[in-house]
Amino acid sequence: METILTINQLTKKYGSLTAVNNLSFTIKKGNVYGILGPNGSGKSTTLGMVLNVVNKTSGDFHWFDGSDSTHTALKKVGAIIEHPNFYPYMTASQNLALVCKIKGVSKNKIDEKLEIVGLLERKDSKFKTFSLGMKQRLAIASALLNDPEILILDEPTNGLDPQGIHQIREIIRKIASMGTTILLASHLLDEVEKVCSHVVIIRKGIKLYSGRVDEMNASHGFFELKANDLVKLQQLLEEHPSIGKITLNEDLLTAILEEPMGADDLNSFLHQRGMVLSYLVKRKESLEEQFLQLTNETAL
Ligand code: ADP
Ligand code: MG
Repeated sequence: METILTINQLTKKYGSLTAVNNLSFTIKKGNVYGILGPNGSGKSTTLGMVLNVVNKTSGDFHWFDGSDSTHTALKKVGAIIEHPNFYPYMTASQNLALVCKIKGVSKNKIDEKLEIVGLLERKDSKFKTFSLGMKQRLAIASALLNDPEILILDEPTNGLDPQGIHQIREIIRKIASMGTTILLASHLLDEVEKVCSHVVIIRKGIKLYSGRVDEMNASHGFFELKANDLVKLQQLLEEHPSIGKITLNEDLLTAILEEPMGADDLNSFLHQRGMVLSYLVKRKESLEEQFLQLTNETAL
């Protein structure tokens, strides 16, 4: 798979503060990546460095196969990293025509891009009449004018109402389905889970996890059990090949699964060995619990 961006041990220091700390990851063509982390974790700084608007302190990165300079490579990148800035008294299409002129691209893409973001019917409305969500959508259309290989968005739904958030997420999915690679920064787990195929989780500039979003949630869950004879119960659980770590907390045993197994299978396994349970529940950590554990200060 073609590589779009390679980041290697990238670091940014502001005086004594390390905003981005030895960060490495790669972005492959066709995927939707989320950089996920709490506010102040270094997401915008990371995007700023790869877009050449923030100077790196150390480490390096290169776009595509690395044969072009960053300046040249960035012509194939569309990015929205600040609040959309357009002329209030000009219409949507007039604003985009100006962007085409600045970027040196043909104006014949304007309608196509307005269509993608659902603003074609509003092309002749002045920018100042737009809602925040429409302004953000116009910014996305603007970033798409040069048919970029990758679209970069920093907190694309910040400040929007639920309907505006939904529209932006639908548009991101649509753009991704058309083959454009996407990198978005967000502090919202829910957003990354809904929109992204891959995630890089950072806290205080340090990478905590990177991989597929669905694999992040690949834990098989755990059982909670109670019985009168806890010693025997623990022994039997230890014999079961699918069960890993077992912990006892007062009268509750927790048994972590190393491979998939249902409560009915475990129950019959124990019953066949003369064990009668007084309590059996299967649980699974949600992605949210895993994310909170990963980013929790005390967990590290
Ligand atoms: P995020 O986008 O994840 O919210 P940022 O990349 O904006 O985080 O910021 C990461 C850290 O770097 C924060 O502690 C922030 O205060 C600090 N920071 C960002 N920009 C500057 C700057 N220009 N000068 C000093 N510190 C900065
Ligand atoms: Mg930010």
